Parts: sequence; structure tokens; C-alpha cells
Amino acid sequence: MSSPCLFCRIINGEIPAKKLYEDDEVFAFWDISPQAPTHFLVIPKKHLSGPGAIAGEDEALIGKLIRIGAQLAKENGAEQCRLVMNNGAEAGQTVFHLHLHVLGGRTLSWPPG
Ligand code: 5GP
Ligand code: ZN
Repeated sequence: MSSPCLFCRIINGEIPAKKLYEDDEVFAFWDISPQAPTHFLVIPKKHLSGPGAIAGEDEALIGKLIRIGAQLAKENGAEQCRLVMNNGAEAGQTVFHLHLHVLGGRTLSWPPG
């Protein structure tokens, strides 16, 4: 049965995406609506609805997302970048499968809107 979760379906190959990286735990792909010259998403293959669903047993996995995000940014000309997770609709989360945004390639303002 196919998953109702968009990002689980991308991981499974049911929905196409421009893949940047994949291993047994992590998947990274270019954002469909980039907000910067470099904008990709790093997600765990394990379905977690968002940062609020991270359990102690996931800590190494979340650290790995950050390490891979920074490494991929460097490899794609955006060593200086912003790594961000939106947690909940009010914070801008629209897809409820945890994802790390990696944005770079331009000067980014702060605070975000
Ligand atoms: P959120 O707003 O939940 O933090 O981020 C979700 C991100 O997923 C958005 O930046 C949006 O552009 C991206 N996105 C939504 N649907 C798709 C899709 O089908 N393919 C890809 N590659 N990105 C998507
Ligand atoms: Zn999912």
C-alpha cells in the first residue's frame, strides 16, 4: 500500500525528485520551489512528522542529517548556508515528514519572516 506521506513517497520512488544523496538512513533532494540558488532538503527515511516527534533514539540520525546537509552544501558551492527545520504549521511547516532545509548561494537576511 502506498504511503499517504509525500516525502515517504519520494523516498520510495513513487513521486519523482531530483536526488542529491541517498544512503540507508538519509535521502536528500532539490526543493521543487527553491528560495535560494542552492535549496535542497535532507530527510530521514524513517517517518517522523517533524522536530517535535524526535525521540532520544533518533539523536544520532538527526546529527547525521545536519552533517550531510553541510557537506552537500559545500559540494554544491554553498559552504556558507542556512540549515533550518520548520516545526508546525505556524512556523511554516507544510509537509509533515521531518526535513532539514539547506539554503545558500546568496546573502540571507535575518530574522526570517
Ligand atoms: P516546509 O514548508 O514543510 O518546511 O517545507 C516543505 C518544502 O517541500 C517546501 O520548500 C516545498 O517547496 C517542498 N516540496 C513540496 N512538495 C515537493 C515535491 O513534490 N518535491 C520537492 N522536491 N519538493 C517539494
Ligand atoms: Zn513520511
